[in-house]
Amino acid sequence: MSGETEEACGICAASCPRGNALFEVYKMSKELQHRGQSGAGYTSFNPRRKMILTTHKGLGLVNEVYQVSNTESFGQLMEIHAGPRAIGHNRYGTSGVVSQQHVQPFERRHGKLWKWFSFGFNGHITNREELERSLKRDGYHLMYDTDTEVMMHFISKYLEEVKDGDMKDVFRNLSQDFDGAYNIVYINGEGTTVVVRDPYGFKPLSYTVAEGGTYSASESNALNYYNIEGIEDLSPGEMAFLENEEVRVERYAPQRRKSFCYFEFLYFAHVSSRLEGRSVYQVRKRVGEELARMEFLNINEKEWVIIPVPNTARPIANAYAKALGLPEIYEEGLIETTKGRTFIEESSRHLKVMTKFHPLRSVLKGKKVVVIDDSIVRSTTMKTIVNYHLKKLGGAKEVHVRIGTPPIIAPCYYGIDMKTFSELFAAPYQDRIREGVPEEGVAEEMARRLGADSLMYQSMEGLIRAIGMPRSELCTACLTREYPTPWGRRTDERAYREYLTKSAKG
Ligand code: SF4
Repeated sequence: MSGETEEACGICAASCPRGNALFEVYKMSKELQHRGQSGAGYTSFNPRRKMILTTHKGLGLVNEVYQVSNTESFGQLMEIHAGPRAIGHNRYGTSGVVSQQHVQPFERRHGKLWKWFSFGFNGHITNREELERSLKRDGYHLMYDTDTEVMMHFISKYLEEVKDGDMKDVFRNLSQDFDGAYNIVYINGEGTTVVVRDPYGFKPLSYTVAEGGTYSASESNALNYYNIEGIEDLSPGEMAFLENEEVRVERYAPQRRKSFCYFEFLYFAHVSSRLEGRSVYQVRKRVGEELARMEFLNINEKEWVIIPVPNTARPIANAYAKALGLPEIYEEGLIETTKGRTFIEESSRHLKVMTKFHPLRSVLKGKKVVVIDDSIVRSTTMKTIVNYHLKKLGGAKEVHVRIGTPPIIAPCYYGIDMKTFSELFAAPYQDRIREGVPEEGVAEEMARRLGADSLMYQSMEGLIRAIGMPRSELCTACLTREYPTPWGRRTDERAYREYLTKSAKG
């Protein structure tokens, strides 16, 4: 997929009684950069300051927001906002336009310290409209088009309602009203620092205890430096209080049907992370082995080359080639151009993909190419790679596309930026795809639309085997339209009806 969609945010928190938690939050946020690149921010707590909580945030990459290129500015930020506790957030906007006002954490000041809080969250609220209506009925005015504002007002409401501001009760109430995916990082004026995993457990959330403090982050790769062997996952419906020397884990809500997003393994998570006790790298390798088991072409050393779409598909393609007994024809055929945000990023998806890769003509020319990617969402990337990079510029004789996931036939309502049926390449074929495998003739038709000579997707069975978790504990809704939450199902019914009406009108 290689950049066709983005994850909705990363969160982190640190408690360092003798150090500067902000510096640790900076380090973790940088490691979580792949989860959100449109903005970053932090809130730090320091009881010795008049402003006990201070928040700094902005648009751009973590290093831009923390002003790392200017040593003096970076040093000043670290000094002004120094404190024993801090939380951080990386944003990729899936709700609302991306503007400075939407960057998290959101801080709400109050004269009472337990009511003065700041928080950030990772996910998407599926029943936001209903929650907004309820806030408006109670006289609230909403200024931004974002889930975060809605959540902030509800947290404030619950803080008023629950006894002594008990955070367990606050998040229990929230779990009863909110539908969707939401991992939360929260800090208040008393220094209480908590991370919360939603009762379905869509997104990962880990923590660790190390010398110098306690730490939590969306992904384990951000915690590797602290205690690589002592990283734990928070279970769905649990929250963790980061205290000076220990992490106190408490259940705030019953676990619902566990619904861990399979896409985390395939695309979003960093390859060095462990999710749900499994190495992302090893899962990706197994995905490649499963693809090799399904291969129906007679691939040989003379005419063929096997290449990944960088970067996430690299372990998949490598394992696929090895499993076919053809490691010597595994090559790099596409090289990513220099990374960096440009005006192109925002202007045209197609132009962005065209300028994203250089083809290696010395590898591709005259060859039958198997190109492997983790997924196809809208198909802009794959069409451009097949027709422009591999065939036109690279001189490939044939291009055969192999995909690590089953076809994505339905939108995600839980925070991944693929929101409508009409934008999805495989949505029109959904009635003719069984367990990830297109019926006879369908894969050929899809391959033609891509400009490819053949197309093969992973089977559902192969995907589940590769991940190694029970199917009943995974969210695979964008592959099956079986949404785990009530509002997910309701949203889908409405969206699908609208899609059919639109398609019928042509
Ligand atoms: S719908 Fe798809 S992308 Fe969204 S959470 Fe579920 S599995 Fe992940």
